[in-house]
Amino acid sequence: MIAAIYARYSSDNQREESIDAQVRAINEYAQRNGYSIVKIYSDEARSATTDNRPQFLQMMKDSALGLFNAVIVHKLDRFSRDRYDSAFYKRQLKKNGVKLISVLENLDDSPESIILESVLEGMAEYYSANLAREVMKGMKETALQCRHNGGTPPLGYDVLPDKSYSINESEARIVRTIFEMYASGHSYSEIIDTMNREGYKSKSGRSFGKNSLHDILRNEKYTGTYIFNRTVSKAGGKRNNHSSKSDIDIIRVENGMPAIISKELWNEVSKKMNGNKRARAANSAKENYLLSGLVFCGVCGGSFAGNRKFSGRNKNLYVTYECTTRKRKRTCCMKSIEKNFIENLVIDQLLTDIFAPDAIERIADRIAEYAKTRTSEISKNIREYENELAGIQTQISNTVNAIANGMFHPSMKQKMDELEARKSALVIRIEEAKRQAEINSPSRDFIRSYLEQDSDIKNKSPEDQKRIIQTYVVKIIVYNDRIDTYTIVDFDGGGEGSRTPVRNHILKNFYGCSL
Ligand SMILES: [Zn+2]
Repeated sequence: MIAAIYARYSSDNQREESIDAQVRAINEYAQRNGYSIVKIYSDEARSATTDNRPQFLQMMKDSALGLFNAVIVHKLDRFSRDRYDSAFYKRQLKKNGVKLISVLENLDDSPESIILESVLEGMAEYYSANLAREVMKGMKETALQCRHNGGTPPLGYDVLPDKSYSINESEARIVRTIFEMYASGHSYSEIIDTMNREGYKSKSGRSFGKNSLHDILRNEKYTGTYIFNRTVSKAGGKRNNHSSKSDIDIIRVENGMPAIISKELWNEVSKKMNGNKRARAANSAKENYLLSGLVFCGVCGGSFAGNRKFSGRNKNLYVTYECTTRKRKRTCCMKSIEKNFIENLVIDQLLTDIFAPDAIERIADRIAEYAKTRTSEISKNIREYENELAGIQTQISNTVNAIANGMFHPSMKQKMDELEARKSALVIRIEEAKRQAEINSPSRDFIRSYLEQDSDIKNKSPEDQKRIIQTYVVKIIVYNDRIDTYTIVDFDGGGEGSRTPVRNHILKNFYGCSL
């Protein structure tokens, strides 16, 4: 098997292993299990909760090229600490035929492991949220003094040694030009042309783009109001999946820093921007397609995609999933299917298969049992490490004795260095494995309450519903007269052989089609 490595290190957390240590452990794992490594992707000092990980995104892109069949991480939380992101990207890897492997977590593809994985991710996410809260506390202190909180300061400002802001006059001129041009009705393209003509560059030394202009025009700091933790929505329609910050987390200090533009100019620009935003939103309201990537056409085998259109005499809005072959090539006759109808159908099935009280009990039993056998695997690894460590210890004492008895050869020095290095690596590995064994054996009660959390799926936010569906549903096939759904497991049904049972849903008023 050919594999790629993904490693990530964030400087927020001193307990983390360095990129080198992660790569070393993964290489060892790969050797033991017969994987050959083709590429190493690594991101440094970035949080797992953002998409702002260039190497990660590159890896996801490359996964479609067939360069590797597996991605190996040291721990699952290196991949992502957010369940939604994790489910999303894992699903994408799977679609590209790439398996995600964790050195420390030993996960396989059985239904038990898929649910356990989701439980473990839930634990990791909780841990990440806690850590973020701690980091936030320190940043808030800095913010209350109107000081710069790290990162690149906005264009137009310099940061003094005491972390307060001062105006950088030559940059401030650029900022004023941008605001004034926008206020007097110039488009982004016209502003960018002017910037390029004058040779103006952004803070990072690059030419201006629409995104950087948008961020500048939305930055209230330029009016002299110090603001901390205000999430600036990204231009270009990229939506932030994480819930937006509440007002409590926002610190605002009027006149907390030197102003570059007047309040009047700011208000004028904001009014214009909001007007444009409303106009755009009316044209492109977004639907959250809970089943995206899961629905397939029973006639042509193609995938279904979400679609939104106004039709009929009254121009009613229809939101559906439809066969992409039909839409693009017109060679399939499958009719589209109403979004709410099929989504409710799938949610109802999860409610019976996974979230019914008796199903939860049965699943919790099996997962707890499964977790126990997995932990025993980790214990086996620990014993192996400990044996190797004992062997190295003996070699070290033998060498020391030999030297004490007057036998010295220059090669002994190098040998000793190697032994010591291997020894400290093993000690770290053993500690880590012990911690893993502890963390990775959630109790039956924990698993049950974890599943119960999602059992009111009907009342969850669309984002949560999507995350749950993407975790437990494998695929849905729409035929002329019925819909088949495959969930990861039917703990009601049969023995080990029936891991992906089909549930048929007979469609009454569904017109047939023939090619
Ligand atoms: Zn089709």
